[in-house]
Amino acid sequence: MKSLGIVGTGQLGWMMILEGRKLNIEFSVIGSDPEAPASRIADIFYYNKEYREFVDHCDIVTPEFEHVDRQILEYAEMQGKLFPNTKALDLKLERHREKMYLRDIGIPVADFYVAEDAARALAFSEKFADSIIKTSKGGYDGKGQFRKKKGENIELPGDQIYVVEKFIPFDFEASIIVARTREGRIFFNQPSYNYNQDGILLYNYAPCDDYGMREKASILVEKLDYVGVMGIEFFIKDGKSIVNEFAPRVHNSGHHTLSGSNISQFEQHIRCVIDLPMNEPGLLTHSGIMNILGVEIDEALERRILSIPGTLLYNYGKKALPRRKVGHVNVTAASNEELLRRLLDVKRVIYPEQV
Ligand code: ATP
Ligand code: MG
Repeated sequence: MKSLGIVGTGQLGWMMILEGRKLNIEFSVIGSDPEAPASRIADIFYYNKEYREFVDHCDIVTPEFEHVDRQILEYAEMQGKLFPNTKALDLKLERHREKMYLRDIGIPVADFYVAEDAARALAFSEKFADSIIKTSKGGYDGKGQFRKKKGENIELPGDQIYVVEKFIPFDFEASIIVARTREGRIFFNQPSYNYNQDGILLYNYAPCDDYGMREKASILVEKLDYVGVMGIEFFIKDGKSIVNEFAPRVHNSGHHTLSGSNISQFEQHIRCVIDLPMNEPGLLTHSGIMNILGVEIDEALERRILSIPGTLLYNYGKKALPRRKVGHVNVTAASNEELLRRLLDVKRVIYPEQV
């Protein structure tokens, strides 16, 4: 029996365990909360301070989130057990390094400047008619982002490194889940159309056209000598794609693969990191997801969601704080039109005040 260690205890780790159970893998997780989604279903839970025992026990270690204790990753990498490598993970700790790396390897991104403090960030933003100023560290789910139009006055949260980005009036957002094996073979799940609201994914569906996403994804994972699944977000404008950001892990926009693909992103990741054979994932049906953000999933809501045809509920068992991801609904249908109708039915049930 292989022993896989997941660094982080959130819903991504939880779904990795749910999907990996069928391969008879033993799962350990490491974090600070024994009641977190992945902790509750793992075979073994370790506290962060026990990272040596955790790494020593596991055959392979993989993170489910990039903002995790660096010591754990270093110790695992030293022992040759860490997939993906810290190169990809480190780029994500500081957004300006991620952006510069993408630009350096020739992948198109939104025009940007790197500013060393708040005053310079505001000055750089005057170079764009419309911009988004992002803190370099600690941002996810739209946190640490400030939209500013030329001439407008806004306040930033103190001196730190910022990325000042041109606001892209995209036609829509899309993403792709790419997986690379230890031998360097690359596989894709179907790209998805994504709808973000206030910087956070609300719903998405697949398949959508490629717009050059596969090619850019291949270049990135090759250059990083990446092993495992990566989620890459794009802006699509006039039929062309530019990269917004990548996530060195399984990704929220890839949850549609739990229903729409014969190999989910979670199984794809597991097979790559523990070195099991991989094949091109096959499209089973039109599928999408609706995120449940900041809404308590009580029994009445659960019943209303599940009574909509084509739905599966993933309830992470988390307390509903404002905008927090506490679950998602997978939706399938025979056509994109039917899928959209069902997604909107699910949306009405979860967010009745928004309709
Ligand atoms: P995640 O949780 O996906 O890691 P994040 O907080 O790191 O999110 P981004 O993905 O960079 O943030 O941005 C969140 C959303 O804000 C994007 O999906 C997009 O809708 C919008 N956005 C970000 N940058 C731009 C831009 N340059 N132009 C237009 N919209 C943007
Ligand atoms: Mg994003």
